[in-house]
Amino acid sequence: LRQKVMQGRHLPAETTDGVRVQLQLNVGLNTERDWLSELNVQGVGLYRTEIPFMMQERLPTEHEQVALYGQVLEQFRGAPVVMRTLDVGGDKPLPYLPMSEENPFLGWRGIRMTLDHPDIFLVQIRAMLRASVGRNNLRILLPMITSADEVDEAVRMIHQAYHEVAEELECSVDEQLYQPQIGVMIEVPAMIYQLHLVADKVDFFSVGTNDLTQYMLAVDRNNSRVADLYDTYHPAVLHALQQIALRCQELNKPLSVCGEFAGEPGGAILLLAMGYRNLSMNSYNIDRIRWIIRHIAAADLPELLRQVLAARSPQQVRQRVILALENAG
Ligand code: PEP
Ligand code: MG
Repeated sequence: LRQKVMQGRHLPAETTDGVRVQLQLNVGLNTERDWLSELNVQGVGLYRTEIPFMMQERLPTEHEQVALYGQVLEQFRGAPVVMRTLDVGGDKPLPYLPMSEENPFLGWRGIRMTLDHPDIFLVQIRAMLRASVGRNNLRILLPMITSADEVDEAVRMIHQAYHEVAEELECSVDEQLYQPQIGVMIEVPAMIYQLHLVADKVDFFSVGTNDLTQYMLAVDRNNSRVADLYDTYHPAVLHALQQIALRCQELNKPLSVCGEFAGEPGGAILLLAMGYRNLSMNSYNIDRIRWIIRHIAAADLPELLRQVLAARSPQQVRQRVILALENAG
């Protein structure tokens, strides 16, 4: 089977009745591999910039960041690369930026930290913009957004960085500096009810199912004691995901999913059923998710969705999804 799955690599991720799905990669470190052609993906849906930050002993300089981001943008040249601004705090502390909090997941994380540190945020955005010169495939994604004000503030700083870099580069580039699309992560449940407030300020949304699950269910994603309760197949989480998809369709905003759920067979099917058409996942999940998509019919999905949304437990959802996967072979 594995061989069969690999053989389908060059084929599009398309259901038996012709629904196309974009598959993108989640990456955190540079690889030398030519992922674009090797895995037949449509770019990077999530580049976690905190990973290289965590491997250093101090904040990387703007110059160092330009080199780092430049490598990634170059590696995926011609395809979009969604770079997420620093998402530290929670389970991802920086050794050189001490944080001590009782509830780090409810604390100074992601955009909250970087908005308090314009020195860090502006340098990072400037580095991204500089790295994108001549490549023009950068997109910027904001993590842990909870309110429209945070979006306003972050967008304002991105514009500030843009103008600074444009001015500095004026002598070396005669064309205009490339203006990247800006997106917001939907991973704090409060965002579900505020999509309309930020939709006109940003270009796309990306759902982080890992944190969305943790915050909706009030279950620490890394606490083994409550690991049984951490479950994206919880009907409440599925209702939230469905609501997000519907709202974004109404708002006509591009939407993708970059949490682990997109890389799980059952998760991918359910997301497809809800109308998601852009899934981003780790490289090792790409082949099998494409294979599954190619073996299901989109026409069968509304009934599956109806049943799982009526379920009363994650177990019931799983049973139903396993049945659908078995039917797909
Ligand atoms: C998520 O929360 O689903 C996500 C993609 O981000 P991270 O796992 O890095 O928090
Ligand atoms: Mg997250």
